[in-house]
Amino acid sequence: MTAAPGAPAARSAGPARAATTAAVVLRRSDFRESSRIVTCLTRDQGRVTALAKGAHRPDSPFLGRIDFLNELQATFGADRGGLRLFVRADLVRERRGLRARRRYLAASHLAQLCEFAMPDQRPEPAVFDLLTGGLALLERCPDAALGHVVLGLELRHLELLGALPDLERCAHCGVALATAAFRNTGDAGLVCRQHAELPRLAVGAQVLELLRTLRSTPGRLWPQLAPAIAARIAAPLPALWLAAATEQHSRWRALFFDRD
Ligand SMILES: [Zn+2]
Repeated sequence: MTAAPGAPAARSAGPARAATTAAVVLRRSDFRESSRIVTCLTRDQGRVTALAKGAHRPDSPFLGRIDFLNELQATFGADRGGLRLFVRADLVRERRGLRARRRYLAASHLAQLCEFAMPDQRPEPAVFDLLTGGLALLERCPDAALGHVVLGLELRHLELLGALPDLERCAHCGVALATAAFRNTGDAGLVCRQHAELPRLAVGAQVLELLRTLRSTPGRLWPQLAPAIAARIAAPLPALWLAAATEQHSRWRALFFDRD
C-alpha cells in the first residue's frame, strides 16, 4: 500500500532524535576491535541499540558503566538510518545485590518481560518504571520474599499489557468469585463453578488469595507480606497468562521457581 501524494508519512513518530534519557543496560556485544554494541531500555525512547565507540579501551569513559542491569543517564545520537551512536553514559546505579544467583534469575526474567513490552525507539515509561522499581525491590527484599515479589511484578506487567484476567469475577457471567474459582483449558480468564468445563480445574483458594493480595498491595509493601503459601504454588497461573499474552516461555522464570 502506498500513501497518497502529500499524505503524512506512515511513521507518526519519525526517526528518533538525539536524546539524554534514563536507561537500563540489557546486553552488549563486541564490535570490531575496541567498540561495543549496547542494547538499553530507555524511559524516553523505548529500546535503543547503539554503538559505544572505543568502549574496550582502558581509558574509555564507558568502562565499568555499560554492564548488565546498570542504570544510566545515557545520551544517544540521532537515528540517521544506521546504528545510533552511544555518546555518553553516566552511571546512576549499579545493582550489585542482583549478582546473587536467585536475584539474578529474577532480575533477568523481569528484564526480558519488559523488553518484550518495549518496542524499538517507542517510549513506554510505565514499563520502564516497572523495570527500575522491580530491580530495586529484587535487590533488597528479604530472600523469603523474592518469590512473591516476582509474582507481584508479573501481575503488574500483565496489567500494563492489558492481559491480567479479572481475579474477582467470572469471565463468563460476571458473578463474584469469592473464594472458589476455576479455569478452562486454553482460556486465560477465571470462571465460576457453573461455567467451568468438566473435568473442573479448580484454582486453590490460597492461590487466589495470594494473587489478589499482590494485585491490591503497593509493590513497596510486598516484601512485608506473609503469604499462607509459597510463591511457587501460585506460579503456574501467571505462567499461563504470560504465555498467552507474550507467546514466550521464560527459561529464567523456570530456573527461578525451580529453586523456590
Ligand atoms: Zn460464571
